[in-house]
Amino acid sequence: MTPHSGKNSLRILIAGAGIGGLTTALSLHAAGLDNVVLIEACPRLRAVGAGLNLQPAAVRELTELGLGEELAAQAVATARLEYHHRHGGLIWAEPRGRRAGYRWPQYSVHRARLQRILLREVTRRLGPDALITGRRLTGYEQHRAGGRRSVRAYVAGDPAPYTCDLLIGADGINSVVRAVMYPREGPPIWNGICMWRGLSHAPPFLDGRTMVIVGCNSRVKAVVYPVSPPDESGRCTLNWVVETRSAAGRSTVPPADWDCAVGPGNVLPHLAGWRIPFLDLHATIAAAPRVLRYPMIDRDPLPAWVAGRAVLLGDAAHPLYPTGSNGASQAIVDARVLAHQLAHHDVDEALTRYDRLRRPETARLLTAHRRLEPDPLLHQVEMLAPDGFSDIRDVLPDHKLADIRACTRKVTGVDAAGLNARSSWSVPGRTVSACAWSTPSG
Ligand SMILES: Cc1cc2nc3c(=O)[nH]c(=O)nc-3n(C[C@H](O)[C@H](O)[C@H](O)COP(=O)(O)OP(=O)(O)OC[C@H]3O[C@@H](n4cnc5c(N)ncnc54)[C@H](O)[C@@H]3O)c2cc1C
Repeated sequence: MTPHSGKNSLRILIAGAGIGGLTTALSLHAAGLDNVVLIEACPRLRAVGAGLNLQPAAVRELTELGLGEELAAQAVATARLEYHHRHGGLIWAEPRGRRAGYRWPQYSVHRARLQRILLREVTRRLGPDALITGRRLTGYEQHRAGGRRSVRAYVAGDPAPYTCDLLIGADGINSVVRAVMYPREGPPIWNGICMWRGLSHAPPFLDGRTMVIVGCNSRVKAVVYPVSPPDESGRCTLNWVVETRSAAGRSTVPPADWDCAVGPGNVLPHLAGWRIPFLDLHATIAAAPRVLRYPMIDRDPLPAWVAGRAVLLGDAAHPLYPTGSNGASQAIVDARVLAHQLAHHDVDEALTRYDRLRRPETARLLTAHRRLEPDPLLHQVEMLAPDGFSDIRDVLPDHKLADIRACTRKVTGVDAAGLNARSSWSVPGRTVSACAWSTPSG
């Protein structure tokens, strides 16, 4: 079957205009499928969230969508990942992105900046009517009439349903599309770790392109990386996360009191006695205008992401702990794979192939994330050298340290040679046509 034939008539509704939903709209358009409407629950896409990382696999996809230059201008190309003891000693360092042999960089970027780039391109390429904000999907039904299968999607405040040939659930970890597919699943699962996160205008540290992970498993851990180059004052925006483990263990998330803003004073006591020579973590945290507190949550892998003409993508399909810096990246890869399959196959075949290609891979990632590796090794360092060290090889042998590299590979999911050699998910050539939509407004 040739790409595009008759495909422009496919009416596709995407629920959720996060990183996954917006990239899906761009990917479908680039693949010649541009009869696409996005509905987003928020009335306005505001600059919320903090920093996130784009792994080279995702940067490749965004570059092939024509966004490479814009990304390079807005993000920091992460060159190194370093693990440190809470007294500063270097445990492990490894190159990232191009320095690690990938043809594409790894980027650290403010989520809102990335979302803005994607949103602007959706508006430019698909038109201003492609995104409807302030519309929350509340449910959907599969429908069949005269041999044609479709979905009726119900949206709060709209009296009539949206009718589409395919509903893509990119509606995040509390996905309504997922809840309709799996009505007995219940809320996300919390692993007992609380994440305090913020953005601070602060001096850069090390080479200004390094992500550092400081601390140990059993008590407290901090992750810090820049999401902007230094400005004229010599300061940059540092994204930081402090993880603290509660005694509660695994459970469902308490319904209230999460996702809330607190003061830096709630975080700083957890870092008493820490001294990192190259980074004033206390001053960095104290400089944050806002500190947000989140539970570290995910969901179990699913037996299928497809039900009839509805399909899951991104966090709706496979929410990952942020410890692997991979949630947004995997949503972007999902988007490109789904669009590629839809451009080349009939809908049922495309959905089957998408599910087969992406679900097992992300299930493996989810399992690797849940192990929280290499935290047990960091914990071992803390146990063996609570007061620090001058040379990590006095604490752990080389082969143990090399295990850290294996851990970071497991949560990243690809290696440089594999990604560099893989063929593209781009669909060459495209045609554009308009097609009538059945929406409540006409
Ligand atoms: C507000 C916010 C801030 C975040 N901040 C960070 C961060 O700082 N760092 C980080 O690493 N990750 C952050 N994340 C998570 C990260 O963006 C995702 O893990 C990753 O990008 C995968 O994105 P996604 O598009 O699948 O899901 P999400 O990014 O969660 O996007 C889902 C979108 O769907 C919308 N939506 C939800 N329900 C409905 C519905 N019923 N109908 C219509 N629309 C709906 C949401 O408003 C949201 O815009 C944040 C997510 C959100 C929503």
